[in-house]
Amino acid sequence: MEHYSPETMCVQAGYRPENGQPRVMPIYQSTTYKYDSADTLGQLFDLKADGHMYSRISNPSLAFVEEKIAALEGGVGAMLTSSGQAANLFAVLNVTSAGQNIVSCAAIYGGTVNLFAVTLKRMGIEVRFATQEMTDGEIEALIDENTRLVFGETIANPALDVFDIQRFADIAHRHGLPLVVDNTFATPILCRPFEFGADIVTHSTTKYMDGHACVVGGVVVDSGKFDWAASGKYPELTTPDESYHGVVYTQSFGPAAYIAKARVQLMRDLGSTMQPMAAFLLNLGLETLALRIRRHSDNALQAALFLEKHPQVAWVNYPGLESSPQRELAKKYLPLGCSGVVSFGVKGGRDAAMKFLDSLKLAAIVVHVADARTSALHPASTTHRQLTDSQLEACGVKPEMVRMSIGIENIEDILADLDQALKCAEGETHAH
Ligand SMILES: *Cc1c(COP(=O)(O)O)cnc(C)c1O
Repeated sequence: MEHYSPETMCVQAGYRPENGQPRVMPIYQSTTYKYDSADTLGQLFDLKADGHMYSRISNPSLAFVEEKIAALEGGVGAMLTSSGQAANLFAVLNVTSAGQNIVSCAAIYGGTVNLFAVTLKRMGIEVRFATQEMTDGEIEALIDENTRLVFGETIANPALDVFDIQRFADIAHRHGLPLVVDNTFATPILCRPFEFGADIVTHSTTKYMDGHACVVGGVVVDSGKFDWAASGKYPELTTPDESYHGVVYTQSFGPAAYIAKARVQLMRDLGSTMQPMAAFLLNLGLETLALRIRRHSDNALQAALFLEKHPQVAWVNYPGLESSPQRELAKKYLPLGCSGVVSFGVKGGRDAAMKFLDSLKLAAIVVHVADARTSALHPASTTHRQLTDSQLEACGVKPEMVRMSIGIENIEDILADLDQALKCAEGETHAH
């Protein structure tokens, strides 16, 4: 499938029926697989034969979707997980243990910040946060002999900063470390991080990949390009795994060592498996991903341009705007579009922002982004509700900030809804 374009792979990669088989990918709703001889199953347990033995570890429906996503990202293998949170946890735990640390860009999803700063810390893994404003020297000063990987997010949710993948890949590689990139907001249609030096990619498939707000899911993708043996820092991949009677992943699986270990060891032990029905729904979403993400991006750019000119709007943050400080990075990493999330400030502060949300007719208030329907959220009164206005300011969430996830409806209808809701918010401003 590698020689086909991404649009074609979205539709055709993965499940390829043979003569007389169902045209649509079947849901293999089975925990178990039947074998004719004990020896065949023994071979499977020894990882000497290919096949499925138990659906906590692998399942044909999931395998087809994993193949599609690996093809889209240009990787050697992928593993679906029960959520995006599980994907990022597995990506780190696969090569990091208690007593070790990772370096992460600070502009990342809030759920990942909690995972890194609270839960990984309790597990004995320290996460050191870097910013893109730091010099290479300052970032490299965070790396020591116990550092195991560097982490960042292509388009940060919700800050919308664009991650300088190549720069952080160069820094990581100078120290013999892999770069892990959460590519959720960009999707492989807008950006393929492996082409800029990233080694591992993760996604919350819950967002644009599913695209219909139907199923929570995640995926880890392995580029196959990182040389774990040459680095010398990853005995878990280059020395015998006693829990798998001595398999050495780099020897048995070559370039797919990382993703093989993630599956046969971590997924076996932690069991954050995606369900076959979820994989089916995710695959349906993936079939139209290339169409949808372009439309999300086009609509979001038009909405951002409209908001920028609107008298009731104080500021707009969207990497596709010429006025954006992210513009140069966006041109390099996101030439086809900057995805569907736009944030902006309503003039009149917190009350005007809440009035704007309450006045929306087409867009719905939901705690979600990245599905087909336009939606909106007021972080100051919801996800960041516990914070005072001055605390909000300190973490970059302004009281007047609205985060919009622009859907794939007709853009004129979206703009008309924004306009009428902003007019209602203006009334609120004048009432005070
Ligand atoms: C939503 C999200 C996650 C977490 O994914 P879930 O599927 O909700 O567990 C991780 N990273 C990013 C960038 C996200 O937007």
